[in-house]
Amino acid sequence: MLRLGQEQKLELIKQLPKTELHLHLDGSLSPEFMERESRRSGIRLPVPAADIPQWIMEQKCDATKQNVDNVQTKGGNWSVFDFCNQFLQTKIAIQEAVQDLLNRLYANHTVVYAEIRFAPVFSTLKGLTAREAVEAALAGFNAQDKVRGGLIICLMRSFDETHGLEMVELAKSFWGRNPFGVVGIDVAGDEGSFPLASESDAMFKGVMKAKDYGIPITIHAGEWPDNKFKTIKNIEFAINTLGADRIGHGIALGRHPDVLKLLKDTGTAVEVCLTSNVGRGFKVKSFADHPAKVFAQEKIPFALSCDNLLLSGDLSIRPNPCGEIMHLLDDVLDGDELERWSIIRRCLLHGLERGFNPSCPPGFKEWCTKKIDELFKQFQIPATN
Ligand SMILES: [Zn+2]
Repeated sequence: MLRLGQEQKLELIKQLPKTELHLHLDGSLSPEFMERESRRSGIRLPVPAADIPQWIMEQKCDATKQNVDNVQTKGGNWSVFDFCNQFLQTKIAIQEAVQDLLNRLYANHTVVYAEIRFAPVFSTLKGLTAREAVEAALAGFNAQDKVRGGLIICLMRSFDETHGLEMVELAKSFWGRNPFGVVGIDVAGDEGSFPLASESDAMFKGVMKAKDYGIPITIHAGEWPDNKFKTIKNIEFAINTLGADRIGHGIALGRHPDVLKLLKDTGTAVEVCLTSNVGRGFKVKSFADHPAKVFAQEKIPFALSCDNLLLSGDLSIRPNPCGEIMHLLDDVLDGDELERWSIIRRCLLHGLERGFNPSCPPGFKEWCTKKIDELFKQFQIPATN
């Protein structure tokens, strides 16, 4: 029977080539970058940079005590994201933030493919245009050579229809660029107050335009509690009408086997963000309760992501790419260890297969698959499918 020690598990997980398909730039800044940028732009830090992760999590937890449903105002953003976005207001800052994030992902977690998402509209507070913000973010990708992938442009669901249409035009003009460009669009923000479940919802026209252009689509859907907001409707609409290629979070699927079948039939993949969902316990109570267990049983394609390295989770848990695999292996999945590792392998392959970047160099996915299989062999995990 297979039984890897904790250190062996950590070593193997660290070395496995990984993907990040759902990662927000503004929610993933490092204290080191914030310190550098605060000096350059004269931003006053509320606490020493090294204490910002703790400080900002306290701010987030306090804010949700007063705003239990995470409600956004029309055209607004959550305050902790506003805090982060003040560091993303110049070309050099955006470029460095992206480069810093990609460097950390590779050096600390062997992430080899990342789709970084951001809302350029939040980087226009000091005169930058949304186009310049996207150019700067792509310059961040081009300034490194370890991580493949590209940018996802977020349409903010609390904004109006014009915003959605403009963001899709912007995405189109950078889509398909080599080696790095925009690879897709997303709809993000407060799903409870601003659902996307009918043709009259603000982001409908924008997303349909992206679909007409053939730009890959992912949508935050089924993240807010289904029992309160009926967010399952957002998932059904995303798949049936908008033709989404991927669903961000999809927690509501755990309560709806019929819609799970829809995912299976259409081959729609889920971007699973375990720690982000379990943080503060109001979306998913615990890792053991996470519907990823059901996705694995039902063979729904899903890949693990962090959502926000800085802002997701709570005061006791914060996501990172290696940690997400460890949680899936030890805290979410049941069954014997060999079976659980085979699900991890499948999950890693889904991450590679469901990435949006068509300009991945030929052979990249095959190289990663071979590397994964070699590592499994090295750690004496027999091949299964
Ligand atoms: Zn997200």
